[in-house]
Amino acid sequence: MISPDTIFALSSGRPPAAIGVVRISGPRAGAAIEALTGRMPAPRRAMLAKLRDPASGEVIDEALVLWFPAPNSETGENVAELQLHGGRAVIAGVLGALGRLEGFRPAEAGEFTRRAFENGRLDLTAVEGLADLIGADTEAQRRQAYRQLKGLLGDRAESWRGRLVDALALVEARIDFSDEADVPEDLVRPALEIVRKLRAEIADALAGASRGERLRDGLVVAIAGPPNAGKSTLLNRIARREAAIVSPVPGTTRDVIEVHLDLDGYPVTLLDTAGIRPSTDPVEQEGIRRAQDRAGEADLVLWVTDASTEGTHVGNDTEMEGVPSGPHVWTVKNKADLLPSAGKDENESGLLDAFILSAASGRGVEPLLQALAVYSGKFFLGGESTLITRGRHRKALEATSEMLDRALSEDAIGREDIIAEELRLAARHLGRLTGRVDVEDILDVIFRDFCIGK
Ligand code: GDP
Repeated sequence: MISPDTIFALSSGRPPAAIGVVRISGPRAGAAIEALTGRMPAPRRAMLAKLRDPASGEVIDEALVLWFPAPNSETGENVAELQLHGGRAVIAGVLGALGRLEGFRPAEAGEFTRRAFENGRLDLTAVEGLADLIGADTEAQRRQAYRQLKGLLGDRAESWRGRLVDALALVEARIDFSDEADVPEDLVRPALEIVRKLRAEIADALAGASRGERLRDGLVVAIAGPPNAGKSTLLNRIARREAAIVSPVPGTTRDVIEVHLDLDGYPVTLLDTAGIRPSTDPVEQEGIRRAQDRAGEADLVLWVTDASTEGTHVGNDTEMEGVPSGPHVWTVKNKADLLPSAGKDENESGLLDAFILSAASGRGVEPLLQALAVYSGKFFLGGESTLITRGRHRKALEATSEMLDRALSEDAIGREDIIAEELRLAARHLGRLTGRVDVEDILDVIFRDFCIGK
């Protein structure tokens, strides 16, 4: 499977920048250093050298050159790293010179990491952890991803798999030597004891799954309410608060706008849904339907109303018409600046489920954000230490657990052949989790998310 090509790519960000890092991996990575510098650095020691175009002999740049001979490198192959000045022409010159060397080609997206996986430097869960670490927007996401990269899930899955293989060996011994007098009668009982413990541990891990998965995606908060209540104004007000913003991403439809926030380290996605109101226009109806769906899927809805046109007490039946019923709903009474007096400050502690604020002036918005940060902290509590961060992990462990159930079921009592088969299948599902077995079909999906140079 290992391609004999030597691959190269710019692994640092988009030029121009102070420094640009070009990574080279493959059998001829060392030859690239020689061709460009005429020298070889000691392994893992930085060497300052002039880089010349081997064709013309012209100096392209002066760079720090690092050499990591196989197998002790990121990819498990020979790896060279060039730390150049990060200008466009410098980088283009070096990449061009590398491309003209025999046996070299530009790397495809995720190819360095894929080679690391294929050479056993990373298991699949670590590959996913690496992708998540690079993609992490907030502290909590970073911590979760780092732990996964370092094997929190992978090591656990491997140890489960090892114990499962032990149990399987006991059952198989019982099958193979059942006629021989000196094989202990009961090898199956200790095997099933191991299986029972495993099943309990996997059930524990599955119990925390949803928090880990959600931490990758973020808490979803929908801003909904009647037209002209000030929903867009509120979203913009929050988005302008620079510290909070991660990246404004347009929604999948023109009816829903998303803003990604980092609140005290927790990821929160804020959705502005189109004004929810009765309409006969089919296009508008479609927009309203999508907005309602989106709000219905949210973890929390901020139901924004115009406080200047109604009473400030909560629970007015007419104004609550159309409130999504599924998720938790907080009432936000906007345009407090238009109210004559009292009531503006009553919720500044942020403890109540109703907020009175002015999106236009910003007054009262901070307590709302503080309450959101507290809410997301509770929402994700314990999520960072969960093992499972993706649906893929959950499915593999659910399938494993199902096989263990079958091995322990009544149907399997006294049937060592059935028990052995279920344990073999269970081990296979665990192996898929870390990528030890049978994963060609999922590799492309996982590596597709990487960009070039990783
Ligand atoms: P949406 O339809 O709910 O998104 O409402 P918009 O955000 O478009 O706001 C509707 C109108 O209300 C606009 O003219 C805003 O300037 C105004 N508005 C929004 N928030 C406030 C506020 O806090 N105070 C006042 N006085 N006007 C506001």
